Amino acid sequence: VPPLENTASNLAVIGTGYVGLVSGACLAEAGHHVVCVDQVQAKIDMLRAGAIPIYEPGLDEVVRRNVEAGRLRFTTDLAEAVADAQIVMIAVGTPTRKLDGNADLQYVFAASRDIARALTHPAVIVTKSTVPAGTGREIRRIIERENPSLDFDIASNPEFLREGNAISDFMKPDRIVVGTESARARDVMEALYKPFTAQGFELISTDIVSAELIKYAANTFLATKVSFINEMADICEKVGGNIADISRGMGSDKRIGRAFLQPGPGYGGSCFPKDTLAMVHIGEKALSPATIVEAVIAVNRARPHRMVAKVVAAAGGDVRGKTVALLGLTFKPETDDVRDSVAVLVAEQLADEGAIVRAYDPQGMGHARELLGEAVQYAPSMDAALERADLCVIATEWREFSERPLADYKRALAVPMIVDFRNVFSPAEAAAAGLGYISIGRASVP
Ligand code: NAD
Repeated sequence: VPPLENTASNLAVIGTGYVGLVSGACLAEAGHHVVCVDQVQAKIDMLRAGAIPIYEPGLDEVVRRNVEAGRLRFTTDLAEAVADAQIVMIAVGTPTRKLDGNADLQYVFAASRDIARALTHPAVIVTKSTVPAGTGREIRRIIERENPSLDFDIASNPEFLREGNAISDFMKPDRIVVGTESARARDVMEALYKPFTAQGFELISTDIVSAELIKYAANTFLATKVSFINEMADICEKVGGNIADISRGMGSDKRIGRAFLQPGPGYGGSCFPKDTLAMVHIGEKALSPATIVEAVIAVNRARPHRMVAKVVAAAGGDVRGKTVALLGLTFKPETDDVRDSVAVLVAEQLADEGAIVRAYDPQGMGHARELLGEAVQYAPSMDAALERADLCVIATEWREFSERPLADYKRALAVPMIVDFRNVFSPAEAAAAGLGYISIGRASVP
């Protein structure tokens, strides 16, 4: 995207996590002047020293280039960051609230209060975080209460980037969604995304509640595809049939599409689990239940247990004292994010059942250790994980695992048995390599 210096906006992004940092860096790449704010001093110190606190391919280059160009900087001082900003973007976390499953908005509201107290000039305050319908209105009330004389607009601009592909998703979006309630805010947001729309990327302009709901509707629909294909896979395992062929046969229909029809251990990560729960909560509160989403969650909840059952069956009915090489801890490849990762749940349950879990992940070991502690062993490499193990579980489809010849698995394992939650190999090639092989929705190799 070529920089459009003449229409550059001044932007403050509050929250420098996966979304805030990528959005800030990419909007600087598009020519805007961006200050990224976080309350965690260590994060800001790292970024100022030229390091990136998360693993996201290509992000380091975009950050470096824009810091050098003087378009991107980092601070913990929110008041200083918003001093020149026409747009203040809220990109803080909205995790699940334990009590009721709703999105926990305390960070969004705290940021809103801080912004309101700091602003002394007109600005558009935009939520990039995923927030339930009606949150924009609540933010408006908070700001009016904190700073009654402030002239401001609110807007909703949900983010659709995928971890692991975030730069490309942000720079070449399928669509940009902007919800506003005034022409002034719409103009400011359209100028912000001009470098993208000038290239032909679509901007969908809506009211605020619609923009907020679009994000949940999109994520819960994708989660529905995942739970749907996982149910089909389970049925295949009972009645015969190959889920890969079924996905292909279904997905080739353009009305259905191939994406998100790969069976697996259930969706995880920092978005789908919490966004499906929040959607159900939104429906309940509105007395208009999201019944389909409730079923999607129920299917997904049962999956880690099913996966553990597969591993126990592969171990001959009992995993006690057996060494399980667990390959993959992140919820998907090309990220270090292990939040709500099924691999972590499975590791925990296998350890509970008495297995010696020896885990390895190319990027997720640090964060996994924070969750799993001493419950599992951490192998320094894939080879070290496999060495003389009684069983191998492939939980995340990192290329390091799928590109490794099956002969290497065979050589390293004490018992040549793979349980593959991601269908990265085929039963035929596993059989040819002399390995037992259990995957999802396909015939097993004993
Ligand atoms: P994250 O936890 O990685 O980042 C949030 C950051 O905000 C943290 O660094 C935290 O320290 C900081 N923060 C919290 N309160 C603050 C405050 N008052 N002032 C300054 N900084 C503050 O979260 P994330 O994954 O980037 O997600 C952020 C939002 O974006 C969520 O609503 C999420 O649902 C949504 N989202 C995430 C993704 C994704 O792939 N991660 C994709 C689309 C949308």
